[in-house]
Amino acid sequence: MIRLPETMRFIARDWLNANNIVFHEGAEATLVDSGYVTHADETLARVVVALEGRRLVRLINTHSHSDHIGGNAAVRRAHGCRILVPEGMAPAVEDWDEDALLLSSAHQQAEPFEFDATIAPDDELEMGGLRWQALHVPGHDMHALAYYAPRERILISGDALWQDGFGVMFAELHGDPSGLPAQRRTLEMLRELDVDTVIPGHGAPFGDYPAAVARALARLAAFEQSPERMAKSAMKALFTFTLLEKRRMPRAGIGDYFGRVAIFRDVSKTFFRKEPAAVAALVIDELLKAGVLIEQDGDLVSRG
Ligand SMILES: [Zn+2]
Repeated sequence: MIRLPETMRFIARDWLNANNIVFHEGAEATLVDSGYVTHADETLARVVVALEGRRLVRLINTHSHSDHIGGNAAVRRAHGCRILVPEGMAPAVEDWDEDALLLSSAHQQAEPFEFDATIAPDDELEMGGLRWQALHVPGHDMHALAYYAPRERILISGDALWQDGFGVMFAELHGDPSGLPAQRRTLEMLRELDVDTVIPGHGAPFGDYPAAVARALARLAAFEQSPERMAKSAMKALFTFTLLEKRRMPRAGIGDYFGRVAIFRDVSKTFFRKEPAAVAALVIDELLKAGVLIEQDGDLVSRG
């Protein structure tokens, strides 16, 4: 049974929206991450419940991906709160660089927002009356921060560490070989921390930290040995995300979709050396077999 501090409210979301955390700070409150843009209304409604009458004064992000920042603009409009982002992602947000934010290449959306301040690696901050250290956790996102409360032994890990793995290695997929080594350094750094409870970006809070880090390192080792395995895992995760957003897509059109959207098209060529339609067929087949997707009247439908 996971017990969270009294000042922390955990809002469980799905894989399209990052989890949200609300910290109570007297009459005020802080929110961590804001979900995907098309679900902003749900995010707002759930945050209001978690505020329990407090005023939201701060929104802090773990990293720049669409499922973590998509609701930033809507949250600021509703609450007038300040927004703090990891220092490394600031230029991409400032210029609203849809390539750097991985929006255009993956056919994803987010609403532009302005931020008030940045958080640098090793900065200390207070949330919910607890002291947190910002830890640089590059890999899945090269500028990502995790937030660690050493006294309470809690880690807000974003997508750097999940109960069973970690987020997609985008750098590698885009032809930059620095992602896997960074993820290895990140996991080896995290392994040294004293942690009782992890609040991940997706999935439920969990304990048994050493086992989770070991699973992540094992998965990483498999990716290091086989770039194609890494790419296949990433294609499956990204297509599942796409279907969560679009809800259903005609199966007959997925091959074309892989050919149109840069990340699917480029990864098909560079990692699989196959036509995008052939990779699409492979990915769909595995997701159907795993029960992640189902087929209904010629459409693929997400079960998430
Ligand atoms: Zn992410």
